[in-house]
Amino acid sequence: MIKTEIITVDPEAIDQAALARAAAILRQGGLVAFPTETVYGLGAVIYNRDSVKNIFTVKGRPGDNPLIVHIYQWEQMTELAREVPETAKILAQRFWPGPLTMILPKKAEVPAEVSAGLPTVAIRLPAHPVAKELLRLTGQPVAAPSANSSGRPSPTRSSHVIADLDGKVELIIDAGPTGVGVESTVLDLTGPKLRILRPGGVTREMLAAVFGPEMVEAPSQINCVRPLAPGMKYRHYAPQAPLRLLTGEPEPVRGFLQKAAGEARSAGKQIGIIAYDEDRNPAFTATGVNFFSLGQRRNPTEGAERLFHLLRLCDQAGVDEIYAVAPPRQGVGEAVFNRLYKAAGGKVEEIK
Ligand code: AMP
Ligand code: MG
Repeated sequence: MIKTEIITVDPEAIDQAALARAAAILRQGGLVAFPTETVYGLGAVIYNRDSVKNIFTVKGRPGDNPLIVHIYQWEQMTELAREVPETAKILAQRFWPGPLTMILPKKAEVPAEVSAGLPTVAIRLPAHPVAKELLRLTGQPVAAPSANSSGRPSPTRSSHVIADLDGKVELIIDAGPTGVGVESTVLDLTGPKLRILRPGGVTREMLAAVFGPEMVEAPSQINCVRPLAPGMKYRHYAPQAPLRLLTGEPEPVRGFLQKAAGEARSAGKQIGIIAYDEDRNPAFTATGVNFFSLGQRRNPTEGAERLFHLLRLCDQAGVDEIYAVAPPRQGVGEAVFNRLYKAAGGKVEEIK
């Protein structure tokens, strides 16, 4: 155990001195958890190999799961990537700073610990003002996976980071809830097409609008034998209770939920339901169901912002089983579906 310092920084009135100290901790080999617009990240300077290894230790992250390298300005690309294709420039102009990670062939100087031995490196330029300023003051690329224990839901609030990493890292920077709520889109630029390895805040539709739909490959996470991003093969984002993911028309799904609530009550079990406002049923209150709202179905960004927090609330409520209603798979809904699918252990049930 080490003493973890926790500081609060207002994203709209950044405390320069506090971030300068955080940057110094990073440069000296410490681990710092910091907010980004997607989720909180756990950072180490990429050239401090022992610190990078320590990220894997404190998270309990499998060693074959590479980290995303965070930069604050475009010029750092050439420090990391062997070649920077024209496509990367267009992507950066359009989507950086923002929730997009680009996979490119890596330079030899990028330590193998960062890329988990792969010949490629994942690079992102985040939009959060605290992340940007911290990266600028650090002056070196920072490897940062999500600041949670491996397998747990990703952290979208500093309380989530504290729950998982207190006593294990030097510093946690709190700047309130993150905005996007799901991790960045991971995009492979090494092939002839743009390949989405992990859906996220920059959606397939947004990429298709720039490059044309034929240029964007979005392999299905379902029926995919070989994992795309190495990290996608693990049971991820998982609450403690088993989670069942339900697809189908709203009406039969609602009927199924009502029946499940009744059965749980008879069996003396506590269930959690993660669904949309429209799916709420007065019978839920009567049967003591813990209802957690993803907001309105027609607004997928709301569900994305809340998802990981709701999964942690299910843990806190100590439910025996969780039923989650699948979001429409459009826009950022695709990313929410993907995280729920992982949380369900790679299963989805169609309700008719
Ligand atoms: P996290 O930082 O926890 O959001 O996880 C980063 C994600 O990016 C994981 O799913 C990794 O497997 C993926 N990733 C990182 N680097 C690479 C790479 N070089 N090639 C493919 N996927 C990568
Ligand atoms: Mg993660």
